[in-house]
Amino acid sequence: MAIPEFLNQISDTIWEIPVSYKEGMRVPARIYATHKLIEELDEAVYDQVTNVATLPGVTKYALCMPDGHFGYGFPIGGVAAMDVEQGGVISPGGIGFDINCGMRLMVTNLTYNEVKPDLKKLVDKLYQRVPAGVGSTGFVKLSRNEFRQVVEQGAQWCVRNGYGWEEDLELMEENGCLKGADSSKISEKAIDRGFNQIGTLGSGNHYLEIQVARQEFIFDRELAAKMGITMPNQVVVMFHCGSRGFGHQVATDYLQIFLKVMESKYGIKILDRELACAPFDSPEGQAYFTAMKCGINMSFVNRQVILHRIREVFSEIFGYSAEELGMHMVYDVAHNTAKLERHIVDGRERSLLVHRKGATRAFGPGMGDVPQRYKEIGQPVIIGGSMETGSYLLVGVPSGDQTFFSTAHGSGRTMSRAKARKTYRGEKLQKDMQSRGIYVRSTSMSGLAEEAGAAYKNIDDVIEAAELAGISKRVVRLTPIGNIKG
Ligand code: 5GP
Ligand code: MN
Ligand code: MN
Repeated sequence: MAIPEFLNQISDTIWEIPVSYKEGMRVPARIYATHKLIEELDEAVYDQVTNVATLPGVTKYALCMPDGHFGYGFPIGGVAAMDVEQGGVISPGGIGFDINCGMRLMVTNLTYNEVKPDLKKLVDKLYQRVPAGVGSTGFVKLSRNEFRQVVEQGAQWCVRNGYGWEEDLELMEENGCLKGADSSKISEKAIDRGFNQIGTLGSGNHYLEIQVARQEFIFDRELAAKMGITMPNQVVVMFHCGSRGFGHQVATDYLQIFLKVMESKYGIKILDRELACAPFDSPEGQAYFTAMKCGINMSFVNRQVILHRIREVFSEIFGYSAEELGMHMVYDVAHNTAKLERHIVDGRERSLLVHRKGATRAFGPGMGDVPQRYKEIGQPVIIGGSMETGSYLLVGVPSGDQTFFSTAHGSGRTMSRAKARKTYRGEKLQKDMQSRGIYVRSTSMSGLAEEAGAAYKNIDDVIEAAELAGISKRVVRLTPIGNIKG
């Protein structure tokens, strides 16, 4: 596809759409991509990212990361920082329905050769213990009222109740609990959808993957070692899931509320209903921010219980405790959030609500909220590729300030789910993958077909763009050997 004329190329990896492109744009839009990725880009992204550039309070640029593609309201891969002292808004479409969906990585001290003979048994048992699929329910039994407390307490509840280690908490954003989460801002319907879903993966592109850090894919030995990857062919576990039906309902509830008040009460006109929003400092905006924190905490709890299950399963299969197997968490990082952060823009420090929708926070060395053990090297960044190709571990870098310290979150889809279903057969894909040494289990064969590696952009291209642009630095490429798909 030809590169549209309205795009100004700023550098090898940055493309700008000026404010003259569309009436109402307050700032230019910038897309991060190599020449190749821009040629392949879904054109809908141009429209979406420039719509975002019209939102009140949007600061500097409306951004799209190298894995960008069409999403609800914002593109997936969209980043926008709203100045909360200048009427900035909060928009559920800039966060995503799966509030705090994120990636978590854990290392082991096992090598590929040690795991290989038991790989099938391992994946089968994980498949039993970590429920996947639409509407799956978990093993943690809670009343609705207890669940209300859990979403206020976050992952700290897990550790107090035996799901995990104290050290895990240090390796999550905000130590696994957003302060100020108040469940009185949550509907009964959201509680109903969430209270029995703790410890479940969900469906679609949520996954639990066993991976190998192959020698030839360690790009920076020192940084890898600081994150616990020290041996050739070391086995690690990466998983991806979020706040399940709970987060989805919270977003749905507040979209309805925002649509009612946005124009009539606050005089905000938007170009797309999917960008429904409210001023951050309005009662509605604050209520959503508080409710969203509950969604964020639910997601931390979900991933923490899953982490605990994975440790149990490894321990049963290999006959050593999780401690003996060195099953330490590397990090947990979200890619569907809006967070209040302070950033310097044009020489002035400002209070910004940074929306990252399908975009990963990538704080550089020395920044606040980076765990002590990573202060010197920068925040670990965990990016999924696909079940067939590979995934990456990176770190944040100082030059990330250009994107409010944000980077890609995946490879990003290029093929619609419907087209992938028509193009691939789940059963055949499963067999082919097995012959290539990847053992995959899924609750749905058509769901598996939708997730074929070729339905996604090439992850190596995406990471190349992120590194060249200076928004994160690659450390290790991880190769899949076992996978549970939602
Ligand atoms: P999203 O958060 O937008 O739902 O998806 C996150 C990213 O995860 C996708 O863009 C895709 O690159 C990646 N992904 C999806 N399925 C898998 C999988 O089974 N394994 C790995 N490693 N990555 C995946
Ligand atoms: Mn998700
Ligand atoms: Mn996700």
